Formats: sequence, structure tokens, C-alpha cells
Amino acid sequence: MPSIISKLPHVGTTIFTTMSALAVEHNAINLGQGFPDFMMDEKLIDLVTKAMKDGHNQYAHMNGLPKLRAVLAQKVFDLYGNQISPTDEITITPGATYAIYTALTTILQPSDEVIVFEPAYDSYIPNILINGAIPVVVPLTFPNYSIPWDEVAKKINNKTKLIIINTPNNPTGMVLTENDMLELQKIVALYPNLFILSDEVYEHLIFDNKKHLSVLQYPSLYEKSFVTFSFGKTYHCTGWKIGYCIAPSKYTTEFRKVHQFNCFTTNGAIQVALAEYLQEKEAYLQLGSFLEAKRNLLRSLMAQTPFKPLASSGSYFECYSYNQISNLNDKDFAIELVKKAKVATIPTSAFYSNDTDNKVLRFCFAKKNDTLAMAVDNIVNYLKANPHS
Ligand code: PMP
Ligand code: GLN
Repeated sequence: MPSIISKLPHVGTTIFTTMSALAVEHNAINLGQGFPDFMMDEKLIDLVTKAMKDGHNQYAHMNGLPKLRAVLAQKVFDLYGNQISPTDEITITPGATYAIYTALTTILQPSDEVIVFEPAYDSYIPNILINGAIPVVVPLTFPNYSIPWDEVAKKINNKTKLIIINTPNNPTGMVLTENDMLELQKIVALYPNLFILSDEVYEHLIFDNKKHLSVLQYPSLYEKSFVTFSFGKTYHCTGWKIGYCIAPSKYTTEFRKVHQFNCFTTNGAIQVALAEYLQEKEAYLQLGSFLEAKRNLLRSLMAQTPFKPLASSGSYFECYSYNQISNLNDKDFAIELVKKAKVATIPTSAFYSNDTDNKVLRFCFAKKNDTLAMAVDNIVNYLKANPHS
């Protein structure tokens, strides 16, 4: 029988699938995988239905519906002051994960080194490895999860092809500051052959009056960047799997060479609907305050417990330390919580290639207020019944 030499011999099933399956098995409230449990805007559903009924059911343009790309270029100009070309610099993709994979496959050659900050969204490293490249990990400083730029300087060299940034960050909710962007500019000035992959899927999910800093705002960064976005996050429809990648024209040309022979094009009816729905700017501009209220609710409910928040300033997530509650490692404690408290979370060691266990769990607060209240009630009851678990 033929046998497969695994391209990813050390990779198992993603923690998101594992924890969501456990949540179902144990009938637990799922604050693990990042998806909303509330209804998305029905207006957008109606627009998709209309687009289908109007006959938009065949292949859309390979690079994405021209009208959608035009609307997005305008949005980028309004928000970040960068006049990108809708024809040459935006590609609509089936989700941001796909855009990240495609960008990495476009950029990387075997043995190239890639700087990855950990904890990291779990698709980055496997997608580097599958391209034969080498992840060079820089841990974010614990517990504030800031970037230690002096460590970056030590690990970067002429073999470094790419640096991946993610702001607001999954899983920590950390957001990059003006100073981080300055440091990044210094680094790209020193290493002219370095690319940037900037994962900005949570661009609108930002709190505490902070402002999202996009590489699109900095010409010296954008000229070497691939920037990825997800409509799933912006419009509470993670299951639709639609996003886009913005990159300077000559890099987009190469990106599209990979894209065209992978999935070729993206769901057309949804693109027709999004092109119209994006005109309603409030739908994305009010997202930050909507989710900030949920973060605050979860934080105030959790204040009844010994869990300690590691402050999130963006994304769907806040991390909580449980080191005053249990000595279990974070994976075992997360499993204990699913089984006994009936609440699923994500152990943050899953976001580290060496399983760093800081006794921290990630909670997703993109949930109905009732869901958050029930989940914390469950945790409070569990802690009463298991004072020293
Ligand atoms: N990047 C980050 C940081 C994420 O958290 C996610 C999770 N959805 C993605 C990319 C992928 O987005 P999509 O669902 O559009 O593939
Ligand atoms: N981004 C989501 C999260 O972090 C999940 C994406 C996935 O399941 N792959 O929970």
C-alpha cells in the first residue's frame, strides 16, 4: 500500500475543534472557539438571499467581485488614508486563514526563517512548516503580552524572510502601539528583504478608546506587507468563511498565482451582498463598543471568582489566570472545567509551540449576555463545590 510521508508529522487536531467537540459531548457552554452565539444582522442575510434569487450563483471574478473590491478600497482610504488599487491590490478569499496560507505559500522558500510571536493563532506555524520554512519563535512578554523588540533584534538575520504580526491579537487581546510600529519600521529599514504578514482580522474589535494601527497607515511597512482580514469577524458570520488580502500590486500578482489554482474564486452571492452592506459604516464602526460592553460584562462577572483577567484591549477574547485556583496544567484544567463546570475555554498553552503553561485560559466573550452570565454562574458553582480542585 502507498504510504504518506506526513507534511505535518507533529500536528494533531486544532484545539478549537477539540474544545468545541468536548463542549458538545459534555453539554457545556462554549466560551472556547471564537464564534458569536448571537444572530448576525438579518439585513445581510436578506441581501445574500436577494443576490442568490437575482441569479448571482455562478463563479465570481477570480480576484473578487470588482464592486466589492472598490468598496473595500474606499474603506481602506477612509480608515487608514492609503489609496490602494481595487484592481491590483485586493483579493477576496474564502476566509482569512486561507489568505494567510496563500500569503505564506507565495512568500516562503524552503529554509526561510519566519519570526512568529507566541502565543499565536494556531494556523501560522503549520502553514510555515508546510512550506518547508522555519518558524523562529519570540515569546510575548508575560503577563502583558507586549513584543520584546530586543529579542526580535537577536533572532532576526539575513535568512529571515518574514515577520508575522497580529493586532488585535488572538488569543491575548493585546494591541500594538505607536511605539511597536516605530520598532517595526526600524527593523524593516535594517532588513530590506523582509516581508510582513499583518493579520488584522480584529481591526474593528478594539476597546478602551484605543485606535487600531494598521500597517496600511505606514508606507514603509505597507510596501512589504500582506494584510489579512475576515468578514466572519466583522459581521458575526464566522461560518461564511470570507475575507480578503491586501498587498502591493507586484506581490498581489504572485498571491493570485497561488490562489487561482487553489480555490480560484470565492462565494459570489455573499460578495454581492457585502458590497452593498459595507456602505452602512455604522455596522462596523460600532462593533468595538458593542464587544467592549461584553468584555466588561464578563470581567465584572468573573470578579466574583479568583480568576484574574490579563487585560484584553481587543478581539473576541480575554485571558484569565487561574493560578489561585488550581495546580493542574492548563489543558487538564480546561478539561476539568468542561466536565465539571460545563464551561469550555481554550488553554493558552495550545498557542505556544513548546506548550508554555502560564495557568491561563482564553475566554471568548462574543456571546449573548445571558450566555456569559450562565457560564460564570456555572464556574461559581463549580468553585463552591470544588474549593481546592
Ligand atoms: N487570524 C486570526 C488571528 C484569527 O483569530 C482567525 C480566526 N478566525 C483568523 C485569522 C481566521 O479567520 P477566518 O475565519 O476568516 O479564516
Ligand atoms: N479564530 C477562532 C478562534 O481563535 C477559531 C478559528 C478556528 O476554529 N480555526 O477561536
